[in-house]
Amino acid sequence: MAKHISVTGVVQGVGFRPFVYGLATRLNLQGWVCNTSGGVEILVDGLSPNLEKFIQSLTLEKPALAKIDAVRVEEAARQSFSSFEIRDSKSVDGDFQPISADIAICADCERELFDPDNRRYLYPFINCTNCGPRFTIIKDIPYDRPKTTMADFPMCKGCLTEYNNPLNRRFHAQPVACPECGPFVELRETRSRSSNLDSLISSIECRIFAIFKARRLLREGFIVAIKGLGGFHLACDASNLSAVKELRRRKGRVGKPFALMAAKIKVIESICTVSDEERELLTSAEKPIVLLERRTLTTSQTFRVIEEVAPNMDSLGMMLPYTPLHHLLLNQTDPVLACEPVPPVLVMTSGNFSEEPIATNNEEALHKLSSLADAFLLHNRDIHICCDDSVLRVDKHTVVYLRRSRGYTPYPIRLPAASKPILAVGGELKNTFCLTRDRYAFLSHYIGDMENAETYESFEQGTQHLLRLFRIQPEIIAHDLHPNYFTTQYAKRFNIQQIGVQHHHAHIASCMADNGLENGRLIGLSFDGTGYGTDDAIWGGEILLASYSDFERFAHLEYLPLPGGDSAIRHPWRIAVGYAQALGLDINDLPFLQNIDKPNIRIVKQQVDKKLNAPLTSSMGRLFDAVASLIGIRNDVTYEAQAAIEMEVLSRPFMSSAIAYPYFFEETSDGILIRLKALLKAILDDLHFDVSPGLIGACFHKTIAQMSVDICNLARKKTDLNEVALSGGVWQNQILLNLVHDGLEDHGFVVYFHRQTPTNDGGLALGQAVVANFQTSHRTQRTRRKLLKP
Ligand SMILES: [Zn+2]
Ligand SMILES: [Zn+2]
Repeated sequence: MAKHISVTGVVQGVGFRPFVYGLATRLNLQGWVCNTSGGVEILVDGLSPNLEKFIQSLTLEKPALAKIDAVRVEEAARQSFSSFEIRDSKSVDGDFQPISADIAICADCERELFDPDNRRYLYPFINCTNCGPRFTIIKDIPYDRPKTTMADFPMCKGCLTEYNNPLNRRFHAQPVACPECGPFVELRETRSRSSNLDSLISSIECRIFAIFKARRLLREGFIVAIKGLGGFHLACDASNLSAVKELRRRKGRVGKPFALMAAKIKVIESICTVSDEERELLTSAEKPIVLLERRTLTTSQTFRVIEEVAPNMDSLGMMLPYTPLHHLLLNQTDPVLACEPVPPVLVMTSGNFSEEPIATNNEEALHKLSSLADAFLLHNRDIHICCDDSVLRVDKHTVVYLRRSRGYTPYPIRLPAASKPILAVGGELKNTFCLTRDRYAFLSHYIGDMENAETYESFEQGTQHLLRLFRIQPEIIAHDLHPNYFTTQYAKRFNIQQIGVQHHHAHIASCMADNGLENGRLIGLSFDGTGYGTDDAIWGGEILLASYSDFERFAHLEYLPLPGGDSAIRHPWRIAVGYAQALGLDINDLPFLQNIDKPNIRIVKQQVDKKLNAPLTSSMGRLFDAVASLIGIRNDVTYEAQAAIEMEVLSRPFMSSAIAYPYFFEETSDGILIRLKALLKAILDDLHFDVSPGLIGACFHKTIAQMSVDICNLARKKTDLNEVALSGGVWQNQILLNLVHDGLEDHGFVVYFHRQTPTNDGGLALGQAVVANFQTSHRTQRTRRKLLKP
């Protein structure tokens, strides 16, 4: 009896072939296994019960990192094999196969890294079939060393022996390396900051001294650029006020929180409260940044993180070391490394100027980051594609992906139905793009905010690379409706069918696809900052009745003016003044206006009255900005949604005593308008009674939550729809998400929220792709069903 078996899924670069080899040998089967560009193929010959057992064990005992989608078994003609062997990879034209994400160093490799008797003791590039770089070093498929950035490092005898031995844990581990044959680190120090770069930089090439030196510089309060898996970080001591301040100054990052890397989980636990689920995420093979509730600072705290790391926040973004190099930098116990003590918590922020993509190659980093870093810890293993750290948060109902990138991309999202080959280009902020093929959606790594040429370039490179890697020839390109988005303009250059997808529709479709829902209608609460509407207004507080194929706008926040357009987003006081002026509310004696020049206020009011450069918006994000400014949280922001985030922090302690303010729904021929005058008036009254901003903020959150539940009840009454999808950046607000989720469930609704993709614009492209697929399918093209009951 012989069987021909094809396995698809993430089965390359994860130790699958050695596992098959071991299994076949154990069961006394003969034949072969090989990688193809479509997956793994196996031919096995032997006794029938053993074959049965083999097939069962393929999925039951698979390697930890393998993700199997399908196992196809066919009868095959008997052939005379004398043994089981691993054959060379073969590439089949047009086939594609999922690629593994980058994996943090495994426990076995970590043990060897700190074992003085091991030949890879303190070697920063130790890895095995279960860990190490994957996505960021792959240039093409099938995943074999010559098609990675490890091609430049011929293996030494020792490594080659391990690589070729099917029983070794480094068998066919493509990035395998050792001090003798592999990449090395080097430290370049910028001695003075005044003259020509080349003459400034001195090299310390001896590898362990480079790490010693980096540790010393960090301890002494310097800023070190460190090359990681998917790009450079800028690191400094998180307990050193002047170092952190200097990093903010150089990076041009005024208030946005920095991420931190701590030596051990125990260190994190002493600084933040960590639940079991959070601990599991922090220590997982993906090693994301996890947002954790910060403990109150006490003098007895062993490990210190200064307030300036995350000003006005009650949480910190923490991660653990995920490359061997990080371990060498942060280790506190190894006797050799301990000669050069290092702070146990480091700021680890992306190596870039604010809003540019993360730097990946050495030359570029030395050039661009020279004014940011005092020294560079470099290495000579190239990063083929950038990949930022992922950022997650554990909420009451789910894990929230604030940024899905390293460790998760390019794992595909399973689609509820097969899709045409589509490239969806995403939005303008927090951009990711998405490729579909069959039942897979490949949501890309984090690209960033498309406001400079560098990000746009990174976007173009990224799309070309992934299209090639997954052998996708798109038939359709999906884009946002906003004509001025870079991504829309990029899409227009393609000579294939173009589908424009409304921003908030894409959000809801993304949430539906993320939850694996079949096509069908539901109520979508699409709340975010900005999205181009079908009437050219700026939408953002949208209650939709939506399916993948189309949507109706059931209700929305009433239109109010955004004086100065986009610039109002950076200066929320303008939104507050604009909203009040449009609604006829008197705010003249409010404290938040005391520091604003009177003429400026007058100009804003005139813009509103004369409808000059004051586009209309129904944005929920802007309503949060307006209220945050009204109650005095801040008039200007230095990063997106800062005022709303700080209001959330201040509101949290008051939630239990909060009650909702009034609001009204008005039925119009254009759908239901949510009127805001009563709400804002009530807030002004509370301000006049000196109610604390925290309590007003809490009541405001309560109001939006109750309004959300109310409008869903109304929609259900009119349509019988009982399912609700929540999507859009506003749902990153933890208070609101939990109140609405619970409130809707209490009213018997089935609630869907993102489970593996961001609710912000980082998940938008997935929605664009599924909408474009459905809108171009004959099967689902039909006249729009009128849903509202007469
Ligand atoms: Zn390993
Ligand atoms: Zn070697």
